[in-house]
Amino acid sequence: MKQRDCVIIANGGAGGISFPARRRQGLIRAVSIGYGILTQGGSSIDAVVQAVTILEDVSVFNAGTGSSFNLEGEVEMDAAIMTGDRKFGAVGAITNVKNPIQTARFVMERTDHLLLCGDNAVRFARCMHQPFYDPRTREKKRIWRKARQDMKSDHFKRLCGLNELYGTVGVVAVDRKGLICVGTSTGGITLRLPGRVGDTPLPGAGTYADTHGGVSATGHGEEIMRNMIAFRAVSMMARYRAPVVGKKIMEHATDNRCQCGLVGIDRRGDVVCVYNTQGMSWCYIKKGRLRVFGTTND
Ligand code: ASP
Repeated sequence: MKQRDCVIIANGGAGGISFPARRRQGLIRAVSIGYGILTQGGSSIDAVVQAVTILEDVSVFNAGTGSSFNLEGEVEMDAAIMTGDRKFGAVGAITNVKNPIQTARFVMERTDHLLLCGDNAVRFARCMHQPFYDPRTREKKRIWRKARQDMKSDHFKRLCGLNELYGTVGVVAVDRKGLICVGTSTGGITLRLPGRVGDTPLPGAGTYADTHGGVSATGHGEEIMRNMIAFRAVSMMARYRAPVVGKKIMEHATDNRCQCGLVGIDRRGDVVCVYNTQGMSWCYIKKGRLRVFGTTND
């Protein structure tokens, strides 16, 4: 079988722009380690899970450690993984695990289901030997307290003014065999109602892959769900190359008041990163060349 060029792309959320140096470092580390796995013949699943795990462990991103808090000051996280042959696994509103992307992979590989939620997702994680872990950081406690103080009755609408609204992480990779894999992980949106599940763990909304390509989306989850952004973008990849898809999907998102961004790879290995929010950090490696954007020193 002809070997394909490996490619990997990652983003640090459509909106998170604070701590640019740490974002930059985290993204570079995640894609470099992911790319190393790919060039050694590893699968895109291993590369994506490893890269997302690294990003979940960097507290400046809104995923894993450093996830944002819900209205009651709790962290409920969503994560998903999907491959080009449409294998899928996800967790919604999971608490007290360090790396939700790994639980999502267990759902994909060890169950007959696609999505586990809440306490029973936590029970499943413990069965998979993922121990208790509190992902709440001091910085996110501070942001939560401030947001609570500023909050009036229309709490969810007020979130649109928050600077650090979207900090989800997403990685897409293609391996030597040409298998595309997408992983997305998020702490959701600050001050969301407890039990809220966003776009990330829903196939087609925040995470999607098929034979045409793969996309991981970030941004306002409710609007991403309504517009099925990841599925819409991947479907466009059947007809258009990645950069054209980027333009078209952002036109659709903006016309429909969907604040979002995405990273993706099409079946030719072309990458796309677009957003209509105030900023987004992202990084990719293709043909051994690393490029990083949206942080300092671009
Ligand atoms: N899309 C995520 C959500 O709504 C938030 C983000 O991208 O940061 O849960």
